[in-house]
Amino acid sequence: MSDLLARHRAVIPNWVAVYYDEPIEIVSGKGNRVVDASGKTYLDFFAGILTNMIGYDVPEVREAVERQLATGVVHTSTVYLLRGQVELAEKIAKLSGIKDAKVFFTNSGTEANETALLLATYARKTDQVLAMRQSYHGRSFGAIGVTSNRSWKNNSYSPLNVHFLHGADRHLPQFRAMNDADYIAACVADLRHVLATTVGGDVAALIAEPVQGVGGFTMAPDGLFAAYKEVLDEQGILFISDEVQTGWGRTGSAFFGIQNHGVTPDMMTFAKGLGNGFAVGGIVARGDLMDSLHATGLATFGGNPISMAAAKATLDYVLDHDLQANAARTGAHIIAGLREAGKRLPIVGDVRGKGLMFAVELVDPATGAPAPALAARFMEETKKAGLLAGKGGLYGNALRMAPPLTLTMDEAAEGLGIIVAALETINAEVAS
Ligand code: PMP
Repeated sequence: MSDLLARHRAVIPNWVAVYYDEPIEIVSGKGNRVVDASGKTYLDFFAGILTNMIGYDVPEVREAVERQLATGVVHTSTVYLLRGQVELAEKIAKLSGIKDAKVFFTNSGTEANETALLLATYARKTDQVLAMRQSYHGRSFGAIGVTSNRSWKNNSYSPLNVHFLHGADRHLPQFRAMNDADYIAACVADLRHVLATTVGGDVAALIAEPVQGVGGFTMAPDGLFAAYKEVLDEQGILFISDEVQTGWGRTGSAFFGIQNHGVTPDMMTFAKGLGNGFAVGGIVARGDLMDSLHATGLATFGGNPISMAAAKATLDYVLDHDLQANAARTGAHIIAGLREAGKRLPIVGDVRGKGLMFAVELVDPATGAPAPALAARFMEETKKAGLLAGKGGLYGNALRMAPPLTLTMDEAAEGLGIIVAALETINAEVAS
């Protein structure tokens, strides 16, 4: 065990899990690659769990932050006017497609979801909330209340009264064989059933990830949320789209994940990639909802000048370079390659993805059962070959990958080659 790992184990809680038999320390990064303490370089297909949205050491972001640092102002407070906040909020409000939108900045996705839930429950005067099975929305009291993924939920007691829906459960035996239309109809029936039988009274909101992140990049068929929204609208139930993983063009086919469903939500929450590594999150929502709280509020460090400078430079970079189109192009190449490989490799139970957000599920070829041990093997194999990947899903057998949106076609081909080679090696081991 390395000295740093021993020290980590001594002072960091054991629920802060680290990847790999021999965890790595990343000491530098450039472009879409990082270097560990031993000097080994990796193509980064996980990008700090989607935080390094445009890669590492991006001059535009570094210079924007340096310009702000040079003013001597790292932080003041929201009791003064903050130009960076206003400029970024204007851009995000416009991109959101939400009418008369306003933006509130936080330091994390957890805090953003907490704010959204606060607004929704206050506006609707009820603590009842709908969420999706296998969801992950953060680590605080409310956010964990709407989280259902058991490996992340712990044994929390929720301040909210939460009802969980199907909708990311295509893998279950009762849904697996259905076509999209039938599956959506079944999910709508489930929603109606929950509203009619479980919920005694008003419901504040449905909170959902358009593509579940921690849940293993579970894809809801396009149109599912439009069908949900029709039912929600009948009762004035608000819809919160958690875009922490799916925002800013990541899915290729839309700028925000929920737009794949033709839905304009009442609120969207965001974090992770926006600051390209700097801590920034927030909520963009209908102005009337945003204004409905009567107390004074602030997030001391939320929307601080440094984060705003980084976020504005990152967002401009994404838009100026049309990285949504790049995500669509490079992602389609990788997903097609993975599907091809999946056809001949019995350990591959499923390949799914949208843009630069794709997953491979590993199974026991004999039984079709989830094979988390094979996912662990994959992590070691790809590490050896110089590629960082992620894993997750309900059973820990979903390999999750989300490279920076700046991925080049050459890097896409290189990464695909490493992934397929690792899958072939493991498949051969299982077969022998
Ligand atoms: N929502 C989603 C969909 C997430 O994936 C995460 C983080 N994995 C969060 C919320 C919480 O964000 P943070 O870790 O910044 O609090």
